[in-house]
Amino acid sequence: MINLILFGPPGSGKGTQAAKLVEKYNLLHISTGDLFRYEMSNNTDLGKEAKRFMDNGELVPDSVTIAMLAKKVEANPDVQGIIFDGFPRTKAQAAALDELLAERGEEVTRLIMLEVPDEEIVQRLLERGKVSGRADDQSEHTIQRRIRVYRDNTSPVYHYYDEQDKAVKVNGVGDIQTISQRLSAEMDRLIAV
Ligand code: ADP
Repeated sequence: MINLILFGPPGSGKGTQAAKLVEKYNLLHISTGDLFRYEMSNNTDLGKEAKRFMDNGELVPDSVTIAMLAKKVEANPDVQGIIFDGFPRTKAQAAALDELLAERGEEVTRLIMLEVPDEEIVQRLLERGKVSGRADDQSEHTIQRRIRVYRDNTSPVYHYYDEQDKAVKVNGVGDIQTISQRLSAEMDRLIAV
């Protein structure tokens, strides 16, 4: 089974690329951001809790996020593989994911980081904000905070998996198709072993 973490800063294209990969390789796509937005749109207690953090560009607390993720993984025992998009975003989440997969006799297969420079990210998110309706894409202030949170809290997750020799970087600049080919090449390498 393949357990792929699609990693990278906000606006690096994780969601777009994950959607392509799940189709091509028949995997389950789990996006914690999408799960939170779904809860928000249904105005659930979880959604209301998450909204307080998301709208400000902060991370939703680990306990809440890990519980939601675990529920989703446990609800899908028979899948061929999973792409984790937007999770783990902290070292504590990474440790929780390792534990969760170990209970199933599995492990993270690979973390692929989409590398995109900060200036490009700000531009992409401001553009997306014009159409996405997402509060966290609207102001440059919130976007800068998300980039800071990524640098301070999330980027250590790359090193966590790099120490296990599981992390690779892929250039996230280019058109969608080109980046998709770069990711497919990594996937094919994984499947070949
Ligand atoms: P982006 O990658 O563009 O920031 P996401 O949809 O992945 O978009 O995340 C949007 C927001 O959802 C984050 O800024 C954060 O507030 C919240 N969120 C998503 N995933 C997590 C997570 N694993 N841990 C904590 N908060 C999360």
